[in-house]
Amino acid sequence: MREILELCIEMDLLAQHAYRVMATHCDDADLAETFDKMSAEEGTRVGWWNDLLGAWENGLLPDIVSDTDALIERLRSLKAQLESVLPEKLEESSDHEMLATAARIEFFMIDPIFGQLIDLTEPARADRLHQAYSAHLQRLIEAIEHHYEEASLAVFLAGILNRTWQDNMTLAVYATRDPLTGIHNRRALDTHLRQWSAWSARYGRPLGVALVDIDLFKNLNDARGHTFGDQALCAVAEALKAAIRSSDLVVRYGGDEFAIIAPEAEPHEFATLLKRIVNTVRAIDLRDAEGRRIPVSVSAGGAIAVDPPASAPRSPDRLLAAADQSLYSAKQAGRDRVGIPIVLGGS
Ligand code: GH3
Ligand code: MG
Repeated sequence: MREILELCIEMDLLAQHAYRVMATHCDDADLAETFDKMSAEEGTRVGWWNDLLGAWENGLLPDIVSDTDALIERLRSLKAQLESVLPEKLEESSDHEMLATAARIEFFMIDPIFGQLIDLTEPARADRLHQAYSAHLQRLIEAIEHHYEEASLAVFLAGILNRTWQDNMTLAVYATRDPLTGIHNRRALDTHLRQWSAWSARYGRPLGVALVDIDLFKNLNDARGHTFGDQALCAVAEALKAAIRSSDLVVRYGGDEFAIIAPEAEPHEFATLLKRIVNTVRAIDLRDAEGRRIPVSVSAGGAIAVDPPASAPRSPDRLLAAADQSLYSAKQAGRDRVGIPIVLGGS
């Protein structure tokens, strides 16, 4: 993992340096400003990778990349290609040549592998990082469009660069998000739960997993129609997002069921989170076409692993099965309530 992150840092340092040279030596003042900003943005990216490296060194980022050797190979090849597109005397290039070099640099930087690595950070942060990169790329595309007004091929190529990045982002969304609610899907849960479980066991930090299921949702669908049911699902997803911390992850687990990963929550905080979830959903102001308020409620259950440092990681299936058992007890006890969280480990 260290080598992977170091390669990312080296590539962004190369880009940062190239943009700085271009900012200093290009003729056009506007373009110099663009390159200057792009250099600063590459510097920020170096900072993100360093943060990830720090997190990994502190055990917050277990080695979850499944084929490390293949990834290192791919990054090394990307780095070699990046080096090969940087002219020896970059400072002597014309403004147009510099823009072409910038486009070549970004062609390597839009590789989906960087996006996947960024997704290892906490969910809210990963979204911000993706947006920051989109803005960085957009800055270059606008500069190419502006400075190559006459050359339609350059503008066309800039469009391809943009389109490739957007397609990568769209595919990443398809792979990890639920199309109805926009929150993460079960595939994302599997990845993150494995990651957090390894971290929790290694450092003896608590890890909570909650399962939340809408009460009598079938009745709501039957009485008001599937479309209204979909609205209720979206409203519950929003309420759950509001009830959790930014380091927690909420996913649509399937049908009318949601799961939440809550790392670093002590047992009493986790129990409070479950109560907050049920209360937040109860307060949803969902209205039918006539403006009548339609109450929605959920039942929530949870499991929390509190193992000593250097334990074997809890299997995600075991955590989810225990959370399901706790959820079942909430349903049995009458719904619209919290099941007692099941504590795994501890004394
Ligand atoms: P309980 O309180 O025991 O959970 O009762 P329930 O009616 O919620 O449980 P059940 O599992 O029988 O019903 C879940 C319903 O969720 C059935 C299914 O049609 C509905 N459902 C699943 N996915 C969707 C969806 O994407 N949209 C809508 N509108 N309904 C969905
Ligand atoms: Mg249900």
